[in-house]
Amino acid sequence: MTRPNNEYMDAIIGHKFNVLDKGYLIVADYMGDEEKIARSARVSYGDGTTKKNNDAGLIKHLVRNHHETPIEQVCITFEMKLPMFVLGQVIRHRIMSPNVMSARYSVMPDEFYIPSLERIKAQSKTNMQGSGEDLDGFTKNAIHSSIKFSNKASKHDYDMLLEKDLTRELARGVLNQNQYTKMVCTFNMRSLMNFMQLRKADDAQWEIQQYANVLCDIVKVWMPNLWDAFEDYRLNSITLSGRQIEYFKSFLVGATDGYSRDLMEDFYNGINGNNMGWSKGEIRETIEKFERLVG
Ligand SMILES: Cc1cc2nc3c(=O)[nH]c(=O)nc-3n(C[C@H](O)[C@H](O)[C@H](O)COP(=O)(O)OP(=O)(O)OC[C@H]3O[C@@H](n4cnc5c(N)ncnc54)[C@H](O)[C@@H]3O)c2cc1C
Repeated sequence: MTRPNNEYMDAIIGHKFNVLDKGYLIVADYMGDEEKIARSARVSYGDGTTKKNNDAGLIKHLVRNHHETPIEQVCITFEMKLPMFVLGQVIRHRIMSPNVMSARYSVMPDEFYIPSLERIKAQSKTNMQGSGEDLDGFTKNAIHSSIKFSNKASKHDYDMLLEKDLTRELARGVLNQNQYTKMVCTFNMRSLMNFMQLRKADDAQWEIQQYANVLCDIVKVWMPNLWDAFEDYRLNSITLSGRQIEYFKSFLVGATDGYSRDLMEDFYNGINGNNMGWSKGEIRETIEKFERLVG
């Protein structure tokens, strides 16, 4: 047995992906690839899967059926330079191992996030946690200057406290949330999928989305079959509640006065010859879902 390694990941180790105005993400290390996921799945499934499934099909099967422990066998370690408020969001992901720059030990650098003019938006009226409409140019410029001033003022106070010989662990209290810091974290791929799904979503804060997008771009090349399955079964999928199904069903049936025999026949005839790349199991599942919706 040889150690699975990946040409793309070997090539990008140490490369700095710039994020936001002064941040970055650097891949420090990784362990495994799709072959490793498939190998560990075959340990749990036994010889039966070796011949039947190629790696791509097996990985698709694992994601589709939420058999995700083999995916945990792959890991990635990356370093990020990020504003404190983004760090606060990243650190909420408990299934990873983080290490954060110590502001008790180190003097914090003069590096603060300044959102671009385009990023400066009004508070959303519909999403309490989000950004909404654009602001007029004059207001944007004034806000931009205020943010820069606030960054400078907090740095000035910090330096002044250090000059008075205040301990760093207390002086850091006056630094504002735009202060850049650094962290290194190791995620297993299952947990990273959860991170990418939650943090690249439209309802996540734009700044953390930028870090998630870099990770998505890396995973897409590193493990294209896993990405494909993740995109299909997680990112692009929707979940319907039981009541939503009932509502759709009553609405559709009411609107069309029941489903015509032709429509049902067309569905059953078409499903086997479709070009979606579905396995027999997935075709069966699609029929079951269709019948649940219209039955
Ligand atoms: C748009 C958005 C808004 C948010 N707003 C807030 C907010 O206002 N306040 C706030 O505090 N957080 C907020 N969060 C953070 C959110 O509640 C989660 O803590 C964060 O996204 C991490 O997700 P997670 O728990 O799935 O990931 P992880 O902590 O990495 O956990 C991964 C998975 O492991 C399992 N798991 C982990 N720990 C436990 C446990 N103790 N018990 C049982 N199962 C566990 C769960 O299945 C979980 O999905 C927000 C997140 C998003 C994306």
